Amino acid sequence: MAKKLIVGNWKMNPQSVKEAEILFKSLIKIDSSKNASIVVCPPHPYLSIHSKYKTKRVILGAQDVSIEDSGSHTGEVGASMLKSLGASYVIVGHSERRKIGNTDAIVNKKILNILKNKMFPIVCVGEHVRDSGGDYLSFIKNQLHQAFANISKSQVKNIVIAYEPIWAIGKESVREATAEEFIEVKIFIRKIISDIYSANIAHNMAILYGGSVNPKNASAFLHHGGADGFLIGRDSLVPKKFELIIKSA
Ligand code: PEP
Repeated sequence: MAKKLIVGNWKMNPQSVKEAEILFKSLIKIDSSKNASIVVCPPHPYLSIHSKYKTKRVILGAQDVSIEDSGSHTGEVGASMLKSLGASYVIVGHSERRKIGNTDAIVNKKILNILKNKMFPIVCVGEHVRDSGGDYLSFIKNQLHQAFANISKSQVKNIVIAYEPIWAIGKESVREATAEEFIEVKIFIRKIISDIYSANIAHNMAILYGGSVNPKNASAFLHHGGADGFLIGRDSLVPKKFELIIKSA
């Protein structure tokens, strides 16, 4: 059985490098090696902590990347910079980035950039509302088609998808999603990937769940829902909770 991929997205936390080191040091104490691979995605200024502690217990990820390679793009961080800091994964298309202007076309460019630099994109998709008519499925289908434009069969094998229903994310979530709701969308995503590429590629693609994952609901998503892992916001900042989620894998 493949290891579960547990990704912690620290977002814009914590507020100082000192606090980031304390958090990082408690995460690398967690022994996850048997059943889970742990990816930690700190904000860009803290990425070098990973090489400072020379740990193999957690894999380094970044929260976003520029569409540009280099040059006059003030404030941007390029894929090769992330790679040189030791990042293996990059989150792309997170709803909080889409909200401030990351269109599907931008998401696609970023995915291509990440792949070109030999890292693994974690591509977030998910609807704002779950309507009874099923329009959310067309919304996700459209996100996937645009995200995967110009991505070859050999490249797509390095992509991870995170299904993150926006209504279930963060403190403002309407409610928690259920494992059944995840199963439905996971099957739907595999169908879309199968139509674009092949049944084999769809079958092997890792599909994570994200949205208010916590120690109480983690087991249901993993063992009933068949999630290949998680993208976790809030509870990745609380080592005890993060550890309990990892343990459920
Ligand atoms: C997220 O923003 O990707 C996320 C899943 O956050 P949370 O776990 O806090 O809902």
